[in-house]
Order: sequence, then C-alpha cells, then structure tokens
Amino acid sequence: MHKLQPPTSEIWFITGSQHLYGEAALRQVAANAQSIVDQLNASASLPLRLVFKPILTRPEEITSLCLEANGAAACAGLILWMHTFSPSKMWISGLSRLSKPFLHLHTQFNRDLPWSEIDMDFMNLNQAAHGDREAGFIHTRLRLNRKVVAGHWSDPEVQARVAAWMRVARAWQSWQGARFVRFGDNMRQVAVTEGDKVAAEARFGFSVNYHGVGDLVDAVQDASDADVTALAAEYEALYAVAPALRRGGDRHDALRYAARQEIGLRSFLQQGGFQGFTDTFEDLHGLRQLPGLAVQRLMADGYGFAGEGDWKTAALVRLMKVITDDLPGGTSFMEDYTYHLAPEGHLVLGAHMLEICPSIAAATPAVEAHPLGIGGKEDPVRFVFDAHPGAAVNVSLVDLGNRFRLILNEVDVIAPPEPLPRLPVARAVWKCRPDFKTACAAWIYAGGAHHTGFSYGVTAEHVEDLAAIAGIEYVGIESGTDLREFRKELRNNEIHYHMTSMPGRW
Ligand code: MN
Repeated sequence: MHKLQPPTSEIWFITGSQHLYGEAALRQVAANAQSIVDQLNASASLPLRLVFKPILTRPEEITSLCLEANGAAACAGLILWMHTFSPSKMWISGLSRLSKPFLHLHTQFNRDLPWSEIDMDFMNLNQAAHGDREAGFIHTRLRLNRKVVAGHWSDPEVQARVAAWMRVARAWQSWQGARFVRFGDNMRQVAVTEGDKVAAEARFGFSVNYHGVGDLVDAVQDASDADVTALAAEYEALYAVAPALRRGGDRHDALRYAARQEIGLRSFLQQGGFQGFTDTFEDLHGLRQLPGLAVQRLMADGYGFAGEGDWKTAALVRLMKVITDDLPGGTSFMEDYTYHLAPEGHLVLGAHMLEICPSIAAATPAVEAHPLGIGGKEDPVRFVFDAHPGAAVNVSLVDLGNRFRLILNEVDVIAPPEPLPRLPVARAVWKCRPDFKTACAAWIYAGGAHHTGFSYGVTAEHVEDLAAIAGIEYVGIESGTDLREFRKELRNNEIHYHMTSMPGRW
C-alpha cells in the first residue's frame, strides 16, 4: 500500500427487474442479488467492496439511484445486472445522467439448470439471458461506454475481469479532482510532452498547473537541519549508500542536499494536495542539482512523476500506481533509452537520467552521485539498480489534437545479459511483444511517446478498461499484433474519432 493512498472506494451492485412477476418473485430476486454480493465480498477475490442496492423496477427509482451514485464520493462505479427482464426504456433517463463508470455483468444466480425440476416459475425468475440483452441494447443505443463481462459470477475468470475493472474504476475516481504540479514548463521544443491541459481536465478530471521553481526552492530551503540529518541517516540504514556519501565521507553534503530536496518536495506536494509533479532540467534556478533520489522516493510512495514537464505521463504514472495499489511488481516512470540489436535477440534498455522508481528494483538499490552530463549543475544523488525480471507493460498517453490516444506494449523484462558497471542510473532491460521490429514500428506509427508509464501489475485489460471509461482511443501492441492490421486500426480509428466527439460517449 502506498503512503499516498487512493480513495476509499466501493462499487454499487444494481439489479434490474420489473413488477410483472409478483412480489414473491421480486423478493427472491433481491435475496439472490444480496447473496451474490455477500459471497463475492466474502471471497476476497475482488479488490473493492460491493454494496447491495435495492432492486430497481421503475424509471423514477433508476433515475434517482443514478443521481445518488453521481453524488456519492465513495462510489467508484456500478455493476448492473438484469436478474429478470427489465424493459430498458425505464433506464434511459437514469443512464443518460449517470457520470460514474459501469460494468454490465451478464450472469445468472444459478450456475446449472435444474433439468428435472425446471418449470415456468424458474424460467420467469432467471431471465438474464434475455433481460441482459434488452439492457445491452439500450446501452449501445445510448452509445454508453461500459465493460461487459459474461459468465457465472463464481467463475474465477469472471471475477478476475470484474476485479481488473474495479481497480481501474478506483484509479479513475482518484483522478477526479486530482491536482498535478509542474515545476517549470516543457523541455524546450519537445512536442510529445505538450498537450491540451483544458481538454485533459474536461476528459480525465485532473488539473495541471504550474509553479515557478522558486516556490520549490523556498520549500527546500525551509527544511530543518535536524530533519535533513534524520533523513540522511534513514537513507544510510535502508540502502547501499556509496561510502563517500555516508556520514563522515567527503561527499556526505551531496546526500544531505538530496534529503533536503526530498523534504522540500514532499512538503510542497502535501501542502498543495498534489498527486504528482513534473520538473525540467532546463529550469533549476536556485536548486543545486536536478532532484533524483527525492523524485525516486516520492514515486515509491505513490506520487506520479515524469521529467521535462511531461504532465500527461506524470498523471498516467499516478493512475497506474492506484490501479496496482494492491498488486505486486512495481510501477515507474520510464523512457525507451537505447537498444541492443544483436541478430539473436533485440533488446530495449529503458532508463531515465535519474528518475526510475525503486518499486521495480530487483534488489536493494545503491545510492550514488555522478555527473548528469547535461544541465551544468552539481552531481545529483540517485538510486542505481536493475529492474527485476517479469512480464510488464509500457503505456503512453498522447494528445493527437482532436483526441487522446492510449498506446500499450507488452514486454518481458529480463536480467541484463551482462553487468553494467559504468552505467550510473536505474534501468530495465526488456524484450518487446510480439517482437522488437513489429512492436517498435507499431509504436512509432501510433505516435507513442519516448516517455511511458511502466508497470508489472498493470495489464492490457486495465488500460483498455481505462480507455473505455474515459471514452478515448486505445491501441495495444501484444503477442498477436500484426503490423498491417495495426495500421488499418489506426486509419479506421482516425475516421471513427473524427465522427464521434461527445464526452463520455463512443
Ligand atoms: Mn525524458
């Protein structure tokens, strides 16, 4: 669990019916829905608590429930299920006003048919097979974004798909009203880190605002010497700190300055209620070095970050950290840095100048100070480590002018094939799926950035769910990706998104 915790979220379980079958049938519908909620909550298979809501049978009840959900701070989303038939014109008013994400769970209470006992009472009570089709029609007719999950509610695969959506709904909730701060502006002349912050706030719910780096300098200077001493000692206790940086070493002052930066940054973020931030090496007036260790430690505590003013990636990294709050593996800001193009296997070396999150480290990170090579400042202190092996994803959020696009590539992180004794930054080495040449060409055709959110816990399903909730484009580069088909998808999407621009709709 991160220190910067996501909101306390719950999901409302909504069951639709009607008054055609009599009160006894409705009581049974309610009991069955309550039983599903109770069993799913007890199973620990879902990350968020389900809240049972009374059966909905009239348009006024449906509208009222949807408006209540909109105003309920803890409600991250709704699961809808039609136990019986629920004529869906009753749902038009409510669903048209619903501003929370919803998942349509196409299930039924009983798993097996009671072949020898089934009668018309049973048939009338268990009609999701056609009741959910009536519901699906109105969702499609209204062009509503949603996730459809089909199968018995006790099926582990069904539960896993619902769980994935819940994590994204929780992350989406955390974006609503979230604040991100940029220290300085964009790296000069860089295009992909730019974008429309007004469109982003309208679409995603988070705001991005700028502070002069001087405001941060004040916070860094305000850190007390006693707090700096205590934090530097904490570094020495927790990490493999280089001897020269340790207390009594001839560069200990650099470690103390890193601690001072962390205290200043943390207090600035806490006081402003910010969930993440950007900085830029081109605007460090009054700071002795680009924050390295401080940024890495804050990312490990759940803050979003990206370099060079890249606010979209900072917000994305924060969102990915909330998605994976209860999952192992780690999530970081990342950059495709350089390649190994040997015929027997192409590899990507991902890193940044400094700012890779230690949540992805294979072992206890080293703390070292080295020249940055650009910026002309003192040598920044940073964590140095290898990322651990495992399946992971890189995700990019780009602004195409008329819309946002999410791009994902599945990768397999490996241990570096050889030691990297002279590389003084944290790094990850990975193979791309389906292969390097297809993945990189597809990424470049899609306009994916060099900056990404990188995570072992986030999956393609999560990012697809996110795109559906946000009503934006998603393209995935995965095991089965074919470059020719992928290019067709990009071309077709260009037309689709040109014709559909209503917020929250297709
Ligand atoms: Mn960068």
